[in-house]
Amino acid sequence: PLYQQARFLKSAPSIKQAPPDEGWEVAFAGRSNAGKSSALNTITSQKSLARVSKTPGRTQLINFFELDDQRRLVDLPGYGFARVNEAMRREWERHLSEYIEKRESLAGLIVLMDIRHPLTEVDELMLGWTQGLELPVHVLLTKADKLKRGPAKATVLKVQKYLQEHYPHATAQTFSSLKREGLVQVWAKLDKWLHY
Ligand code: GDP
Repeated sequence: PLYQQARFLKSAPSIKQAPPDEGWEVAFAGRSNAGKSSALNTITSQKSLARVSKTPGRTQLINFFELDDQRRLVDLPGYGFARVNEAMRREWERHLSEYIEKRESLAGLIVLMDIRHPLTEVDELMLGWTQGLELPVHVLLTKADKLKRGPAKATVLKVQKYLQEHYPHATAQTFSSLKREGLVQVWAKLDKWLHY
């Protein structure tokens, strides 16, 4: 019910135009098509909080959603390198790393990865920016319904082990917007990070 209250606050190209850096916020990041918009809509029980159709190559904005005057959810621009040029890729890297490194109210980062292709090079780039920041990270292995239970379990264990070795501040779980699976775990993580 808390997350159902989320409503669009503003879009900003960089942290200069972001809302005041107060209270707590949790940001969502992932490769384009990882299921980020679907996850945000599922978590907030809203049909179209995060638009599910995005045009690659257009100006990438950071979208802020307000829960109350001290708490926000943040939709970070998806990383879709294949279809954007080098200059845009560098711009994206600069804005994202700046947001992650400088945003004081950022209490935790949710990283979405398709369970069939976890831990790509760009995912590692993102995770690398969080190292040494004491910023907790929680990985959602999305579209878990695409795998049978056994392979899904094996993947999450493998990812958890890898994270433990390389990014001990990160945890992971399976998630499916389609089946509404893993929602309770995500809500618990958000509750903790947002000081509910
Ligand atoms: P985004 O680019 O990361 O915001 O990804 P979207 O939320 O737009 O999802 C990308 C594609 O994956 C869409 O075709 C969705 O319908 C599909 N998708 C998202 N979540 C799930 C899921 O939990 N299960 C399945 N089977 N498909 C999903």
